[in-house]
Amino acid sequence: SMTIDGLVRRMAINAPAKRAVVSAQVSLTYEELDREVRRLALGLIEVGLEKGDRVAILFLNDPNFLICYFAVLRCGGVVVPLNTRLVADEVAYQISHSDSRLILHGDEFDDMLDSVGSRPPWSRRVSPTGRADGAMTLAQVARLGDDVAEPVFPSVHHDDAAGIWYTSGTTGTPKGAIVTHASSLWSAIGMALTGGVTARSRLLAPAPLFHRGPMETLSLAGFLVGATHFLLPKFDPADLLDSIERHAITHAFIVPSMTFAVLNLPQRGDYDLTSVTCWLTASASFPEEYRDRLEAETTLRSGMIINAYGITESLLNACFDPASLEGHRGSVGSAVPGTLIRVLDSHRAPMPAGEIGEIAVSGASIAAGYIDNDEAWNAVTFVEDGLTWYLSGDLGYLDDDGFLYIVDRVKDMVISGGENVYSAEVERVLVTHPDIAEVAIIGTPDQRWGECVTAVISSRAGAILDVEALEEYCAGRLAAYKRPRRVFHIEELPRNAFGKVRKGEVRDFVRARLV
Ligand code: ATP
Repeated sequence: SMTIDGLVRRMAINAPAKRAVVSAQVSLTYEELDREVRRLALGLIEVGLEKGDRVAILFLNDPNFLICYFAVLRCGGVVVPLNTRLVADEVAYQISHSDSRLILHGDEFDDMLDSVGSRPPWSRRVSPTGRADGAMTLAQVARLGDDVAEPVFPSVHHDDAAGIWYTSGTTGTPKGAIVTHASSLWSAIGMALTGGVTARSRLLAPAPLFHRGPMETLSLAGFLVGATHFLLPKFDPADLLDSIERHAITHAFIVPSMTFAVLNLPQRGDYDLTSVTCWLTASASFPEEYRDRLEAETTLRSGMIINAYGITESLLNACFDPASLEGHRGSVGSAVPGTLIRVLDSHRAPMPAGEIGEIAVSGASIAAGYIDNDEAWNAVTFVEDGLTWYLSGDLGYLDDDGFLYIVDRVKDMVISGGENVYSAEVERVLVTHPDIAEVAIIGTPDQRWGECVTAVISSRAGAILDVEALEEYCAGRLAAYKRPRRVFHIEELPRNAFGKVRKGEVRDFVRARLV
């Protein structure tokens, strides 16, 4: 049956000389990539890796991430991609929590991993230079693979576990979702079809590949069809635009905070972005104002910004077919092939078009569960008519054409005077204020209203905005009950590696100032 690493093997046979992966230092054809994957996989088997074993991988967006990812899968292992921003204690926790025996990592992480101490949770470290005590280099492991006289790979089925992907931890501690080869392949197919990814596509990965979205939707779609992948190790808005121009990039997964950084770049209009056919935005709410500004202030052609709705546990749920963008502004598209989407009321009954409820998804790309946490998994899933539904924790509605609109996270909705106020809606309005750089809306306790709509603002050039200033701006743009009645100023909003605002920390910040 088809497996994730089978995509590379297929291309190595069908189009060996096609360019697969390009970074500043490295350029590999599909044949070369497949050879590196195979050597490393055989070497990993030689050092004792067995089918089902979990292997942590910790790299910036560099070709070694991809080689290690495919190699672990080829020998039947389960990849555990780690967030490159984690500190030593967090890495140690995720490695022992996921029961990873081996860690494959970039040299940048040597010092951090050394500080885990004398009793690390892994039994072996492997990195390009193998600097740590007892560590092996990637080349040494691969050479072990070369010496195997009769290579035998375990047989891997598409329903076997392929990865443990930790969620972003936006709403709490990251949870480890167990995913199968099939679930990721289905998302890749959905992405390729809706995003128009073809063998001629040139993909750029500025978003971190250790997040399942960038890796297993857009990048995997590229491997599915044999596209060429360009890697950016670290995000920088000028590097992003420069790479797009230099490599005539067609597709890139660009989270909203990256778009925001691009819009703040004075030279944003100077780059040739006309090659782009899919500026894929996902992972957080995308203000439509960003679309207008990108189209007006850069050379990006109109209609190329494609919003997609993905979740670590279910991967790609909805995505635009660019041809149907017209008339559905603000939507994240419709259900991708293999996926069902419903909007449910509090009794889990489907709601009519136009009405807001919790978004539930079902289908081929849903994870198999969380590691060590059946209780948490059972709390977010239910079975009906033989279909497993995953409760997203997001509020939204479908229109008559089946296009989905995300309104807010269930947890972020503010209930003020009995009215539901969707934080994301208020944020989208306030972020267009010329003096506001960033804004988060939360609810704070209020005797009269239950909760009070509260804005936490980082302003431009030290501007001070009070409630009256916001009131004036919101009048005519938002109903009175949605307008903020308390305002706090913050230097910079706390964000995770994906650029998502950590609302829990914003609430702590405000709580400390309320008493
Ligand atoms: P955790 O589950 O650990 O709290 P998280 O929910 O951020 O973190 P992810 O799986 O990375 O974990 O993100 C999924 C969430 O991101 C969705 O539930 C949704 O709230 C948000 N999201 C994803 N895509 C979009 C989009 N296109 N527009 C608006 N929100 C989006």
